Amino acid sequence: MEKCPMCEKGKLKRILNKEIIHGVYLGTYPAKKCTYCGETFTSGDTMEKIEKKAKEKRVWGLGRKTKITKTGNSLAVRIPKEIADYLKLKVGEEAYIHPEDHKLVIESK
Ligand SMILES: [Zn+2]
Repeated sequence: MEKCPMCEKGKLKRILNKEIIHGVYLGTYPAKKCTYCGETFTSGDTMEKIEKKAKEKRVWGLGRKTKITKTGNSLAVRIPKEIADYLKLKVGEEAYIHPEDHKLVIESK
């Protein structure tokens, strides 16, 4: 078996990895996992397949940086157009906002 390039202690074992991007399940893909540090490695070919599937499901490249601005006494988060389109968000629509394990969750209806 191949040696792990990350920790150089473990060996790489073939596994099937469940790929999930932004909560959307894309299927299982072959990968190699280190028996020592747990790092997983995916081949370029497989990465391309995952990217293609993510694009089909319209979840590719949805994550991005945004700025927190001030509006009155509150703070505002700008939602990028791509995310708004994907979630079909509309101006004036109500949403529920709450923290979850140091993440900010905004739930649209
Ligand atoms: Zn390792």
